[in-house]
Amino acid sequence: MSRPAAPPHASGTQPPDIRPWTGRIMVAAIPLAALLAACTSVPLPPWTPAASPPVARAPASPPASVVTAPRPATPPADVQISPVAPPSRLPPSAGVAATPSSAPADLPAPYSAAVAARFPAPSVIYNTPGLQAGRTSFTTQTEIQAWLRDQAAAASRTPGVKAAVLPIGRSQRGEPLEALVLTHASGTDPSTLLATGRPTVLLLGQQHGDEPAGSEALLIIARELAQGLLRPALERINVVIVPRANPDGAAGDQRMTSGGLDMNRDHLLLNTPEAQALAQLTRDYRPTVVVDAHEYTVVGRFLEKFGTVQKFDALLQYATTANIPEFLTKAAEEWYRRPLLAALRTQGLSTEWYYTTSTDLADKKISMGGTQPDTGRNVNGLKNAVSLLIETRGVGIGRLHIQRRVHTHVTAISSVLASTAQRASELNQLRPYLDKEVSAQACKDEAIVEAAATPAQYELLMLDPVSGADRAVTVDWDSALALRKVKARARPCGYWLSAGSAKAVDRLRLHGVQVMRVAEAGSMLGDSYQESSRTAGERQDVRGTIAGGAPVIKAQVSLLRGVVDVPRGSYYVPLNQPLGNLVLAALEPDTQSSYFANQILDGLQSTVRVMAEPAVKFEDLP
Ligand SMILES: [Zn+2]
Repeated sequence: MSRPAAPPHASGTQPPDIRPWTGRIMVAAIPLAALLAACTSVPLPPWTPAASPPVARAPASPPASVVTAPRPATPPADVQISPVAPPSRLPPSAGVAATPSSAPADLPAPYSAAVAARFPAPSVIYNTPGLQAGRTSFTTQTEIQAWLRDQAAAASRTPGVKAAVLPIGRSQRGEPLEALVLTHASGTDPSTLLATGRPTVLLLGQQHGDEPAGSEALLIIARELAQGLLRPALERINVVIVPRANPDGAAGDQRMTSGGLDMNRDHLLLNTPEAQALAQLTRDYRPTVVVDAHEYTVVGRFLEKFGTVQKFDALLQYATTANIPEFLTKAAEEWYRRPLLAALRTQGLSTEWYYTTSTDLADKKISMGGTQPDTGRNVNGLKNAVSLLIETRGVGIGRLHIQRRVHTHVTAISSVLASTAQRASELNQLRPYLDKEVSAQACKDEAIVEAAATPAQYELLMLDPVSGADRAVTVDWDSALALRKVKARARPCGYWLSAGSAKAVDRLRLHGVQVMRVAEAGSMLGDSYQESSRTAGERQDVRGTIAGGAPVIKAQVSLLRGVVDVPRGSYYVPLNQPLGNLVLAALEPDTQSSYFANQILDGLQSTVRVMAEPAVKFEDLP
């Protein structure tokens, strides 16, 4: 069957409030829906456009005091977000700050008082250990561990609620990586959660160590779910929280992991133990929704390039990479982003699409978040999860406006939890539908090997660094909503991998990809890759060269059809599986993100695109 090649995103020449799903597009989607439904045995979820107001029916409303509190000019001195008292059992910070964040406490404001006045403190005061008055460091790793245990213990006192702190790995410096699971299931292991039939939300914070607000906000969210105003949500959804994915970076107030790698460009390759831990957690718990909480640069290179300060409380984006199923994008937009915009607006918080700019000061282009299949946002989309990036204005300003930054994350994440609870039954239909749709494309249709953002112009609001007034700047803007097809091929039935490809096989299986081993020698019809040229290069993202990566092989290839003899002990990766699009991203060799380019596969001859269902005897891997 044929289907439109790309989601009907609006072009970047439209105003900031891009609306990918207009009435015109809805009309086009209806016959597509019918067509898709006819092709599979899984019923297409009924499409219920987001009502307005979008969160009105949500059983899990954001914390009431956040939604309804008036916004006085000066915040009341002692307001708590919920009736729950702050845990008094937390160890005093003085005794536990073994690896305190080096974030400066009293960084001078990098802009005028007039700019600062644009960002008044919210009418609630958040009270994690790191946000206590007089603190100079954010919540330490030890304090996070204690906090998660306190919340698990508190949650477990509620009848029907189960909670546990899971060890999910260790950082490069040996710090424990931990997740808090909260559920109404009878246990906290993955199969018990899956058996509830409730969607699971995975909340990730602080992949970049110098972006603390998401981590502090997730401690608040954990407490509100465990013993506060978000607790009713657990009757509809399961929640897994990793408040600090990069503890080494947090301890050093640095973006990268301790080895110098950007772990948020490592979610396909899985070279870091931090990304491996998240991949395994995602494989096991199969979240329907993933939220990745970050912060973005407020002054720095923006001030140097444009003479401005960045304005928006929250920058938002969902997965924007090649081969994302259309209905997944539609769910992210209609069921999540629109309610998010409304929730933030209600709190007087401003929003824009996520954007950034390169570290090259001569390059004034602004780009939306990247289109490479390497970030958590894009890779989780390739795992058929609704994948949302939330960024607050925080990098480079120390503790300035920290209550407002945390409030922005708490408001946004509460909206995501409410949307998930509200849409639980539809999400439970969407996920198997997407899994089946992706699987059914094997051996037919097109595979987009590489896509790129579309250049456009955009009028972006920034702030004058002296007066604090809005300043509209027309910028060159790479829109990730409108993906250009750069390279496409026929979608194979699967990939044959040589017996020497164990490293790639291990990485794929860590993602949850099904890999089979050839049990008896045989042959397959396939396309092998013929190298026409190669150069060494560096992986790039929209900021510039990706930190810490080894050189990549940039190969030009052509395809040669033939019958390939496959020995016993080699591997077959079928595309007829839910993670088929992730497999494509990893195994088509001539992209900067591929396992070949990054030398996880040792040569082009290690991979064959299998173009007919193989008649070979396979065995499962242990
Ligand atoms: Zn970040």
